[in-house]
Amino acid sequence: MTTEAAPTPSAVSGKEYQLLINGEWVPASSGETLERRYPANTDVLVATFPSATVEDTDKAIAAARAAFDSGSWAKAPARQRADVLRKVAQTIRDEMQDLARLLASEVGKPVSEAGMEVTLTADVFEYYAGLAMNIKGQAISNIVDDALGLILKEPVGVVGIITPWNFPMLLATWKIAPALATGCTIVIKPATYTPCTTFELGRIITEAGAPKGVFNVITGSGKIVGDRLASSIDVDKIAFTGSTEVGQSVMRAAASNVKKISLELGGKSPNIVFADANLQSAVIGSLFGIYLNAGQVCQAGSRLLVEESVHDQFVEMFSNFVGGMKIGDPMDPATRMGPVVSDEQLNTVETYVKAGQDEKASLILGGNRKTGDGLDKGYFFEPTIFDKVDNRMKIAQEEIFGPVLTIIPFSTPQEALKIANESMYGLAAAVWTQDIDKALKFAKNIRAGTVWINSYHTAGALGVPVMPFGGYKQSGIGRELGLEGMEMFMETKSIAIKLN
Ligand code: NAD
Repeated sequence: MTTEAAPTPSAVSGKEYQLLINGEWVPASSGETLERRYPANTDVLVATFPSATVEDTDKAIAAARAAFDSGSWAKAPARQRADVLRKVAQTIRDEMQDLARLLASEVGKPVSEAGMEVTLTADVFEYYAGLAMNIKGQAISNIVDDALGLILKEPVGVVGIITPWNFPMLLATWKIAPALATGCTIVIKPATYTPCTTFELGRIITEAGAPKGVFNVITGSGKIVGDRLASSIDVDKIAFTGSTEVGQSVMRAAASNVKKISLELGGKSPNIVFADANLQSAVIGSLFGIYLNAGQVCQAGSRLLVEESVHDQFVEMFSNFVGGMKIGDPMDPATRMGPVVSDEQLNTVETYVKAGQDEKASLILGGNRKTGDGLDKGYFFEPTIFDKVDNRMKIAQEEIFGPVLTIIPFSTPQEALKIANESMYGLAAAVWTQDIDKALKFAKNIRAGTVWINSYHTAGALGVPVMPFGGYKQSGIGRELGLEGMEMFMETKSIAIKLN
């Protein structure tokens, strides 16, 4: 008897979405639409969706404002908010397969990675469902005898959320779940490449029982819709994830009414391999560190610092593993790397490869678009490695956001730390060594918001949703996830009571 392999499922196609404003699904007032095509095969039209105007954005903001001011959500019993969040988590788990396929279709990430993202998304909703019942302030009673102080925590108000395309479901949820838990209302604008899973979240949150106007989804140009959200005086807080450049523009716009802001921005994270590391684990972890989501990850380990004495051995092992990686259709469960998100991103990656060659870094693997084998209609790029890179080069300092690794040799722990810190970014870092003293010394001295020891991107077991995440330096402002991730959606009020 012969067993045939199951056919690879096809990408999702033909979805049609509308804006979600005040509990209603509506077209853009201009009637204009945008489309998203499958990055692995642009013949496939994944979805069409509205291109919102400033007027549409204002309507969504007004709906969120009215919902907040009515108290229908902010003043509802905490149990009601917790129940809604728990139902959302459950629905996401029930619809796991379909959501993962939709996510893989809009981003172009392998369906296995999309499954991980959907799982983590459900986990985050569940985590903040629990915390919704545990929001509390403090009482001060021992400073003087005839007075009492109360410190209250209150929702910040209307929150504008702007998200990028690389983890559209998870990064939206890092903001949505704590904001809803505290009683805020929301207008969210997803990236134009990846609106689909945010629309699905809109459906799921509405069906779970969020009152009308509490959660609004608006799609369209970042310069129009995003900028309006950031500058509107009716929005109390902006939670943004995206590039440092757009983050600066959001910050300027948010100054209009001195909005609270949190920014999760870019990175160029150092991943340091010492000679005494378990090299096999370091190779596999570093591979995941750079090629997850085709390198389009803010915390990607894009600067791989390798101690000179094991450099040649490590690079050989690493290159062999890269050679064995299946690159192809994201819908195929065996695929380890899919295309990049867009033609624009493909051009950016190519431009950086050229810059690396111009600066005389040693290109030891890849460097070209990947074609043939049915990949010609997608945005595929070869996994690429530059060796013997000088940390001052453009390819070591700027975020490429593609499958391009720069390897930088070093000879002492002090030199490794110096190179690691010589960056405008400070999002994440990793260190591989069997000497815990060396690892902790490095972890203490690196200026980055997250440090992994003997792992990379470890999110599921330790991290999402419990450990705060965010950047030092130009990688951002504030922390998402954990208790700190909820703090960002609350105001603090002090009440001083004189006792007679
Ligand atoms: P981007 O900055 O181009 O866009 C992010 C969002 O901002 C999109 O929704 C976009 O439409 C919107 N936008 C664009 N112009 C705007 C404007 N003038 N005003 C308001 N909004 C505007 O980023 P991207 O290309 O979608 O994502 C990649 C970037 O995101 C990378 O730099 C990456 O490092 C960063 N990122 C950071 C994290 C993190 O947690 N630190 C996570 C993921 C991605």
